[in-house]
Amino acid sequence: MIDVRNISKRYGSTVAVDGLSFTVRPGQVTGFLGPNGAGKSTTIRMMLGLDRPSAGEVLIDGRSYRSQVSPLRRVGALLEARSVHGGRSAYHHLLWLAQSNRIPRARVREVLTLVGLEGVSKRRVGGFSLGMVQRLGVAAALLGDPPVLLFDEPVNGLDPEGIRWIRDLMRGLAAEGRTVLVSSHLMSEMALTADHLVVIGRGRLLADSGVQEFVAEH
Ligand code: ADP
Ligand code: ADP
Repeated sequence: MIDVRNISKRYGSTVAVDGLSFTVRPGQVTGFLGPNGAGKSTTIRMMLGLDRPSAGEVLIDGRSYRSQVSPLRRVGALLEARSVHGGRSAYHHLLWLAQSNRIPRARVREVLTLVGLEGVSKRRVGGFSLGMVQRLGVAAALLGDPPVLLFDEPVNGLDPEGIRWIRDLMRGLAAEGRTVLVSSHLMSEMALTADHLVVIGRGRLLADSGVQEFVAEH
């Protein structure tokens, strides 16, 4: 479970997030909906300890991300700005991540198979299509077998097959009892993916309700 407690974030005179509170529960997909610039990425970065809130705190299963003993085993994330070392193979990229987080090397093969990259694991990541880079990002997020998963605009730029794949994957992770948060600026996408919606605009909470309820009211 993720507990966002009254967080705010200012960048100079820009208020990116403004007193936001909500919880994300296990066993369902929570859609994090808002127009571009609403503060979704900033909020997700604060969940991961990549940005420090100007006020408030985020607790993941009762602790901040930075105070988790093995963060990659607690929280997996697919962020928008993905940087992978293009010269490395997919296998070596994941092996490096596993080794720096004390995850058994056998798990690398498992996640490559889970995302369907086992056949291209020796190829340089620099030659990968966007869809393959996205699958590699998902493999990295799943590496530590974490109970909490965060996806920031995961379907942007993907073809219909890639979109369906990632949607089914997120639904499957929630069905296993994991806590899944996915951001999007598209209600149409959220209606197909999410059980619950947290809607923000200009850094503030606009709605926190079941998808059906939200659709009925809007
Ligand atoms: P979203 O993910 O919903 O599109 P963001 O969290 O990326 O929104 O951005 C929220 C606001 O914060 C925007 O006005 C954006 O320009 C601003 N912002 C985000 N990151 C930075 C940054 N590093 N420096 C300055 N402003 C930022
Ligand atoms: P087990 O039955 O011991 O969980 P599996 O071979 O089913 O082993 O899975 C290997 C690991 O991958 C397990 O830790 C499992 O939780 C995890 N796992 C299985 N399916 C998925 C999935 N769709 N997404 C993420 N992790 C998964």
